[in-house]
Amino acid sequence: MVWSLVIGRVAGTAIRIHITFLIFLAWIGFSAFRQGGRAEALESLLFICLLFLCVLLHEFGHIFMARRFGIATPDVTLLPIGGVASLERIPEKPSQELAVALAGPAVNVVIAILLILLLGSLAPADITRIEDPGLGLLARLASANIFLVLFNMIPAFPMDGGRVLHAVLSMRIGPQRAMQIAARIGQGFAFVLGFLGLFGNPLLIFIAIFVYIAAAGEAQDAEMRHAFAGLRVADAMETRFSTIPAHASLEEAVDILLATPQHEFPVIDAFDKPVGLIMREDIIAALKSRERLTRVIDVAREPKEGLRDRMPLQQALDDMRRNGHAAFSVIDEDGKLVGMLTPQNVAEMLMIRQARPEWRFGRV
Ligand SMILES: [Zn+2]
Repeated sequence: MVWSLVIGRVAGTAIRIHITFLIFLAWIGFSAFRQGGRAEALESLLFICLLFLCVLLHEFGHIFMARRFGIATPDVTLLPIGGVASLERIPEKPSQELAVALAGPAVNVVIAILLILLLGSLAPADITRIEDPGLGLLARLASANIFLVLFNMIPAFPMDGGRVLHAVLSMRIGPQRAMQIAARIGQGFAFVLGFLGLFGNPLLIFIAIFVYIAAAGEAQDAEMRHAFAGLRVADAMETRFSTIPAHASLEEAVDILLATPQHEFPVIDAFDKPVGLIMREDIIAALKSRERLTRVIDVAREPKEGLRDRMPLQQALDDMRRNGHAAFSVIDEDGKLVGMLTPQNVAEMLMIRQARPEWRFGRV
């Protein structure tokens, strides 16, 4: 995530703090200082830091459980709205998905129980007094952990409860149907939350909008996975396109750029193997600073691993998304360039599959 600082690393996962979180801390400290002076500012900051420590431990609940199933998590980012752990993928087995989803809230349950044991007691009414400084730091922290559990178990994406619902439904009706139903229930909950918000807390309306958009996004993602099931890269790739030879000059590259509607060009060697990729903006940037006879290979982007034509399409898309690459060269088993995958032809494939789900367009 951009605008974030790495503050440490635990078991291969970088802990990042987003800049907005630091601004949020400063704002909390400043407003507490104006209300009650230095002592109150320090106590407020201590409380928020402890609270976010609990949020971080919650995320590590997910991270360590996912790791048991062989799923790595490159980083976890703290934002003012909570923590975001970037798991490489969600486990496909419903039982594992359920375990990963529950592991986060389970951490807060344990923390709350430990704090209540330490305190001796916690009145149920205190749970609603998280912001009341009269309650004492530990009691407020215990309440906050209970609130985190309740909030996260709302059965709507992106909350953990949405994942739990999806995992449980998947066991009975399969992941695709389960995603549609879970997304619909999530959106239903968003409506209820938003409606309640109209009569009381405006914050609820904000959360409702957030939940609604997230649920729609998950449903769309599931639909795409469904549409692309069984397809390989070769089924969707572009096969009519121009390439630029590695030894071509910048001048020749400009000719090819003008002659075609393409914006991305694989750069190939004499054996038709891709050795790089050059984008329109790379050519333009090179024009400003380089000479006419500069070789294309000297200004092309590093060759990244080409996609194999027989790779599942969905796996290729996950790779593209993770690496933020706009286009890919596709190679056959001899490493020769046979196609290109771009967001445009992926979108075309999606439209075609949605229009005629029962038709087969396989090329492989
Ligand atoms: Zn969680």
